Amino acid sequence: MTTPTPTDWPPLIAGQPALDLLNTLTLENGALVEHLGDDAAAAAWLSRATGAAQAPQPHLAERARELREAVRAAVESLKRAQPVDLAPLNALFARMHSHLVLRPSDAGFALHREAVGDPAWLALAPLGEAAAQLLAQTDFALVRQCEHAECVLWFHDTTKSHRRRWCSMALCGNRYKVSEFRKRRGG
Ligand SMILES: [Zn+2]
Repeated sequence: MTTPTPTDWPPLIAGQPALDLLNTLTLENGALVEHLGDDAAAAAWLSRATGAAQAPQPHLAERARELREAVRAAVESLKRAQPVDLAPLNALFARMHSHLVLRPSDAGFALHREAVGDPAWLALAPLGEAAAQLLAQTDFALVRQCEHAECVLWFHDTTKSHRRRWCSMALCGNRYKVSEFRKRRGG
C-alpha cells in the first residue's frame, strides 16, 4: 500500500483516462475539490495522465473542465439509462484539430503534430479520444462509482470477477474496513 502524495493526487485509478478525467473533482471531508483549478495544475495532471509532458497552455484548465463535464453528462445519462446527447461532446472533439508537420532532425526527419486553432484543445485530444472510446467501446455495466459514501471516484472494472467495489483498496477499501470494524466493536 502506498500513501498518495500531493503530486499523485488525485489518483489515476480509473483504468480509463476519460474516467480519470472525471476523477479530477474529488470529495474530501464532504466538499468537492477541484484539481484542474488553473492551467499549471491542468498541465501537471495531463502530463501524469497521458505520460507525455504537457506545458501549460492558456485556457487549458477551462477547456479540460469543459470536456470533463461533457463526459460526465454522457456517463451519468448512460448509467441512468437515459438518452445521451452526443452533440456537446462531438462539438468539443471537432475543436481538437491538428495537422502533421515534418521537420529536419538529427536522424533525418521528425514527425510533429501542430495544432490548428487553440493549442489547449489539441493538448486535450488524447482525453477526447479516450472519451470517445469509453462511450463507443466500453460495457457500461462495468463503469461504476466507488461504493464509499464519501467518495465520488469513477472506475472501469476490469477485474476478472467484475466485483470491484472501490476506487482503490488502499483508500476506500480500507476506510470501509475500518468503519465496519468500529461498528462491530460498537465504537
Ligand atoms: Zn473511493
